[in-house]
Amino acid sequence: MKKIISVVLFLAAFSLQAFELGKYGSFTFQKVNGNVYVMHGPVMEPNVENEGFMNNPAVIVEKNGLIVVDPGGNYNVGKKILAEIEKVSKKPIVAIFDTHKHGDHWFANKAILEKYPHVKIYAHPNMIKEVKGGEARKWYGILNRLTKNLKGTDNAFAYPNHALKDGERVEVDGEKFVVYHPKRAHTDTDLMIVHQNSQTMFLGDNVMRGRFGNFDESSSILGNITVLEKLKKEKALRYYIPGHGMSGQRDAVIDPFLTYLKTVAKWAKKAYDDDLEAFEVKPQAVKELKAFQNWDAFDHRVGQHLAKAYNEIMMADDE
Ligand SMILES: [Zn+2]
Repeated sequence: MKKIISVVLFLAAFSLQAFELGKYGSFTFQKVNGNVYVMHGPVMEPNVENEGFMNNPAVIVEKNGLIVVDPGGNYNVGKKILAEIEKVSKKPIVAIFDTHKHGDHWFANKAILEKYPHVKIYAHPNMIKEVKGGEARKWYGILNRLTKNLKGTDNAFAYPNHALKDGERVEVDGEKFVVYHPKRAHTDTDLMIVHQNSQTMFLGDNVMRGRFGNFDESSSILGNITVLEKLKKEKALRYYIPGHGMSGQRDAVIDPFLTYLKTVAKWAKKAYDDDLEAFEVKPQAVKELKAFQNWDAFDHRVGQHLAKAYNEIMMADDE
């Protein structure tokens, strides 16, 4: 009997330590490709129950340390993700890559920086400039309003501290990375990161699965389509990790989002050519996009995206 009780107590203690998010379940890192591990976050928009955790933090285990890509959306979630990283390996975290300026991807730098004050945090120079110039504060406001879980994330924000331009290479203990910056796609601050040893590409939010993000004023739907079409023409790497949703092989990861964006652009172009407003083609676009209706926030995003694509087509026509 004593033995059973101690087993139960042990299991209870263990489950207390798991990273649990109510109805979204528990989250751990999975080994996906060679020495690359990913924790697939919930795909729902930030809310109180997901605590502002919604992205795909990744870890690359190298000889003497760990490299993290997009550690998560705030300091508190970052501490829980750090505890899960330590279940993968107790090696120190030596570097972080941030894919872009949106706080749901990089605010958790703070939890890692607290434990490893000398960690190198890489990002595109546009990201460093924009987050310091007000974007971090703006995202703090958005995420705090939606999740009430931003305490400890600011004062000061854990900004990236090393800039990487398009085509730059980084080597950490024999792990080789090369980064690409599509000028304007999901934002104008994106880095797509290739881990050459494992042939893995981190796409950032240039690809999402199961949800739609916002296309803000720094983004380009047409630019995003161009980037993805270019990736489809190149020789496929072994593995692709989107900013949100399941990772996997190239076409499985890229095709759904690319199809969505191309369909939105097609209907926006039709509206523009026919002298209609973007919202007037929404019913037809929604019909063609039926396969995406279960993706989170489908209904309100389609209208926004049609309007954004319409605007881009109009601007291009003016030039
Ligand atoms: Zn984003």
